[in-house]
Amino acid sequence: MSEELHDCGGCGVKPGEFHADGCDVECCARCGRQQVIDNCVYELNGISMLFMESTHPEIYTGGPTAVMFEVYDAEIEKIGGRLPWTGLWPGVVECREYDFWCVGPPWVSCSKDTPEATEDLNRLYRETRWDREKRRHVLRTSRT
Ligand SMILES: [Zn+2]
Ligand SMILES: [Zn+2]
Repeated sequence: MSEELHDCGGCGVKPGEFHADGCDVECCARCGRQQVIDNCVYELNGISMLFMESTHPEIYTGGPTAVMFEVYDAEIEKIGGRLPWTGLWPGVVECREYDFWCVGPPWVSCSKDTPEATEDLNRLYRETRWDREKRRHVLRTSRT
């Protein structure tokens, strides 16, 4: 099965290139989540998301500071650097490998043969964890 790789839908870079600054599609090399839902910049600066509104109101409203991003970037360098755009939406390769499919909305799990089945990224986040060394989502220890 071969499929055309496409340019990033967020910032338009080609497969194998790094995303433009601020691209929503880019995933965090530390936790594997898309940067829009990534909390690592807060974690690495010791700020609890739970209490941020009262402990760091200026960051809660204004977002992380340049210094906070420097801390984050330094950590990402340490673990091998940023994740480039691969040509496929982040996580779809793993969904195909683990046979996670869904159809919707509303999104329900289904088999691969279901018409219009698409990769089940919600299930991917539920049932896998991010492996920082392999730089991909791996199944949590198998359910017994
Ligand atoms: Zn991008
Ligand atoms: Zn992260």
